[in-house]
Amino acid sequence: MNDLDLLRSGGVVGGGGAGFPLFKKLSAPAELLLINGAECEPLLKSDQYLMQRYPKELLQAASRLASIIGAKEAVICLKDHYSSQIRALTDALPSLSLAPAVRLHLLPTVYPIGDEQALVHSATGRTVPPGALPGSVGCTVVSVSTALNARRALEGKPVTRRFITVAGEVKRPGVYRVPIGLPVRLLLEQAGGPTVSDYRLILGGPMMGSLTSPDTETVVTKTLGGVLVLPADHLLVRHAELPPEQMRIRAMSVCIQCRTCTDLCPRHLLGHPIYPHLTMRSFAAGNRLEKSAMLCMECGICELYACPMGLNPRRIQQKQKAELRQAGEKPAFQLKDPPALAEYHQAPSERVLAKIHASRYDIPVPENCIDVTAPFVCIPLKQHIGVPAVPCVQAGDPVQQGDTIGRMAEGALGADVHASICGTVDKIENGFIVIRARS
Ligand code: SF4
Ligand code: SF4
Repeated sequence: MNDLDLLRSGGVVGGGGAGFPLFKKLSAPAELLLINGAECEPLLKSDQYLMQRYPKELLQAASRLASIIGAKEAVICLKDHYSSQIRALTDALPSLSLAPAVRLHLLPTVYPIGDEQALVHSATGRTVPPGALPGSVGCTVVSVSTALNARRALEGKPVTRRFITVAGEVKRPGVYRVPIGLPVRLLLEQAGGPTVSDYRLILGGPMMGSLTSPDTETVVTKTLGGVLVLPADHLLVRHAELPPEQMRIRAMSVCIQCRTCTDLCPRHLLGHPIYPHLTMRSFAAGNRLEKSAMLCMECGICELYACPMGLNPRRIQQKQKAELRQAGEKPAFQLKDPPALAEYHQAPSERVLAKIHASRYDIPVPENCIDVTAPFVCIPLKQHIGVPAVPCVQAGDPVQQGDTIGRMAEGALGADVHASICGTVDKIENGFIVIRARS
């Protein structure tokens, strides 16, 4: 098998967002490989833990992935205040003979510097045009956890674990190493359970994660980076639960069109023609969709950091974006000159954390992660962009950790999935393969 086949059969997908299959991403050549070590979302610590714990492996992975795409070098991009991670990587570098070479690039500690487009701009000075991908400016971006998963897959070891930060109102916050398919409620149990009785969960980070109820049936997937437990009356919960009609009434009555949401929008600061204050105006008037909403990457800066009136421009952008997509809109956008003094409009991570009332949940990067055991797992056949994997086991089959249990459909975009524990296939239904651990 060649390297791309190994990445495909190892089931490696992007560690965040939609889970883009890595073999597909690395099929296109690029001049630079950027490792995204920004750990963009506040409170998340898993990538920082991995950079601190596995610096040598990460440097080797970066060089190997750069060679696959024919890049002249790999650049590990991490925030300038990650001192122990910078030290670990810098100390490991001289002992390795890497070709292509690997170097570090220090990012400012602002949110959302881990956004692929902000990262490319900071590391290279190039601006990805609106609606385009980093490949359009010669860059491929891969996250820390994805690069480390790729390194294992190139040694024939598939993805069966996910490093997850558990934070917020929970007894033992920390970084957990979790079998794929473990129900989130069991993960919370192993983290000691919530410290408040009335709570909600945010899956992902506090800025961009999705709100869910405590009785969620959600399971850990290859793309889940964090679980945050918040009191039911927390600011983030209140924002996420506001019904659309109330958002409209509030937009009509108190949006003062100050355009702070636009002036601080990270994509606007890159020169993308996106104007959330105009989206607010059209939403309040209820008469038309603002096409620039399609350029929103839903970072939440406008809503949780910028707006002085506590309004919901991000959720309204999301809503309009969905409606525009449904209407089949595919507008073309032109890159503009970035606004004057754009670098002074960036949002310091610490301020963002304070604004979302989450500073008290910030924990130091732990020395060790906590290994989680699973009595059973429900492994989704779709944890990635594209089509679901096709099961290749049946109920009653014994499986070992790492066995392939679902294969990428022939000729389609997707990824293989693997048993994350040793046990017996219990059932296959509703797009999940349930495995019970061997007792
Ligand atoms: S920042 Fe808030 S008040 Fe100002 S234009 Fe945007 S949504 Fe309206
Ligand atoms: S969520 Fe708001 S700040 Fe972020 S990209 Fe969208 S419009 Fe801009």
